[in-house]
Amino acid sequence: MHEQTYNLDKQVPDSAGTATAYLTGVKANYYTLGVNGKVKLGDCKASLKPENRLDSILQWAQNANKDTGVVTTAQVTHATPAGLYAKSANRKWQCDSKIMDAGAEALKCKDIARQLVEDEPARSMKVIFGGGRQEMGAQVHPDAEETCPRKDGRNLPQEWQNDKAARGETHAYVTTTRELRSLDIDDTDYIMGLFGDIHVPYEVDRNVTLDGTPHLREMVEVAIKRLRRNDNGFFLMVEGGRIDHGLHYGQPRRALEELLAMEEAVQAAMEMVDMEETLMVITADHSHVMTINGYPERGNNILGKVEFNEDVTDGMPYTTLMFTNGHGFNYTWNGEEVMRLNLTGVDTSGKNFEALAGVPTHEGSETHGGEDVAAYAIGPMSHLFHRVHEQNYVAHVMAYASCIGPYSECDRPVQAVKNVYRSDTFGVTTLNLFPHQFIHPTA
Ligand SMILES: [Zn+2]
Repeated sequence: MHEQTYNLDKQVPDSAGTATAYLTGVKANYYTLGVNGKVKLGDCKASLKPENRLDSILQWAQNANKDTGVVTTAQVTHATPAGLYAKSANRKWQCDSKIMDAGAEALKCKDIARQLVEDEPARSMKVIFGGGRQEMGAQVHPDAEETCPRKDGRNLPQEWQNDKAARGETHAYVTTTRELRSLDIDDTDYIMGLFGDIHVPYEVDRNVTLDGTPHLREMVEVAIKRLRRNDNGFFLMVEGGRIDHGLHYGQPRRALEELLAMEEAVQAAMEMVDMEETLMVITADHSHVMTINGYPERGNNILGKVEFNEDVTDGMPYTTLMFTNGHGFNYTWNGEEVMRLNLTGVDTSGKNFEALAGVPTHEGSETHGGEDVAAYAIGPMSHLFHRVHEQNYVAHVMAYASCIGPYSECDRPVQAVKNVYRSDTFGVTTLNLFPHQFIHPTA
């Protein structure tokens, strides 16, 4: 299936508006989470109105007594995981200091990290794996970049543990591969793993020792081992969140290595669940402006170059993968004509290589793209992922497949899909990347 990913107010979306769409079934504005289109970016007051707040598939699954979890390589308060549980007029309000920066009116709103620990449905999530120790107020390395420090002095992972203890629930909080592997998964109901001060390290930078951080595949394996204990089934979202980050930095090697980690995680998940009763959806939430230049030879390294193309007027080599905007912009004026970087003899396959870009941006700020993205599905009702649909259709199919949320009254097999927002547009997909992928096993 192809998904149309635009936000209500942007032709090219961000990951908060997209997460709201495919997790609640309702399209939203740029940078907003878990609220409908009446809430504009930064409008705290509108986001607090009950009629503007949306339930996500996380809530629907919990209402049906399924266990739920999230695994991401980004912060656990980042846009995609937050789309499951947060209601916020600004995805940047991951911690209290960002709300303070937004002015007095915003102070009425609760930061996303606190929503994760204090509010339903996040409070009842059984598995929470990702980065984000800083946003959560846990101790971070003194050299950690300051992205969203807490000003209230609260230690939310500790509060999360206290909450579970007060409710008499078995629980564990882990921060390293060693701790993750020492878990008694069959005897622990709630598991939180925070494996990064900010995000979980890129796969190409990851400390692979026991003191380091787990591979995405291992996080997914632990999550499924825990969640499949529930006879009513489960909902799990897995995000390869750093695919997107590698692309924002214009570094194809980083992005593609993250994509391979995601592939391993998907394969592991498929081996662990019964595909007769599990719907698995693999998709991106949006595209990026990376494209594939013509005409490298078959077998050429995808991170390599086209050494010579007679139609290129400066006669110099160019990389197969390139961005229409990004930090890799590198053009100069020699007094007569515009010159670009000469890549002759340059190794373009390294993790820090920034591919050339047409429009200059700040470091890490290459933009998303607006093409449709692909959604692949397997398992019950996966045939409904067909043709071209609006992105919010994804939430409806997942809910329908497992008879939860708006479809909890379903009467299979005769009843047809109803109340599904469908697009009549037949778009043309030009590029499908996988900046954020996720899987949704729902037994
Ligand atoms: Zn992004």
